[in-house]
Amino acid sequence: MGDNREILGNKSDHIETCLFMNKTYFCPKFLQMTTNRTFTMIKPDAVENGNIGAILEKITSAGFKIVAMKYTQLSRRDAEKFYEIHIERQFFADLVQFMTRGPIVSAILEKENAVDDFRALIGATNPAEAAEGTIRKLFATDIAENAVHGSDSDENAAIEGAFHFSGREIY
Ligand code: GDP
Repeated sequence: MGDNREILGNKSDHIETCLFMNKTYFCPKFLQMTTNRTFTMIKPDAVENGNIGAILEKITSAGFKIVAMKYTQLSRRDAEKFYEIHIERQFFADLVQFMTRGPIVSAILEKENAVDDFRALIGATNPAEAAEGTIRKLFATDIAENAVHGSDSDENAAIEGAFHFSGREIY
């Protein structure tokens, strides 16, 4: 976490982090819930298959502005932390193995209604069930290697963005 966090609002009301006006803050829940940002990763399968450019094209054509982006590789510890909500699932070890096997592109995206609109753009977790034209329908292999991640709530978007980027990497 960057050292540029400041306190917004009532201290008693604080959650851990949120993104607001291009910076990462400790801030009250109501600010976190009003962000128009989401977090994404282009996963190792899509990178291996040469689909970074095509996926970014779909994202920007759909009206998302890239406010942070990096080409990086998750460590085992990163992946276990990022996906800790799935720790009890039978596929957890496979998921960590997959997400760490090669580089990814991580990004924070901005748009009105970013979380829901991005989930619609990427399609269902299982590409066999994803709508025509969605990123997972076009580029995913199967339910495990499904090309992209998209945050499932404003709260998780803020937490996931702050996990990958410091305030000074967000524009
Ligand atoms: P998402 O929000 O659409 O990404 O789906 P989930 O939060 O349910 O799952 C997180 C990620 O775990 C998915 O995007 C897949 O990469 C992986 N995953 C989900 N279901 C399975 C499964 O049945 N098997 C395996 N190996 N991986 C899965």
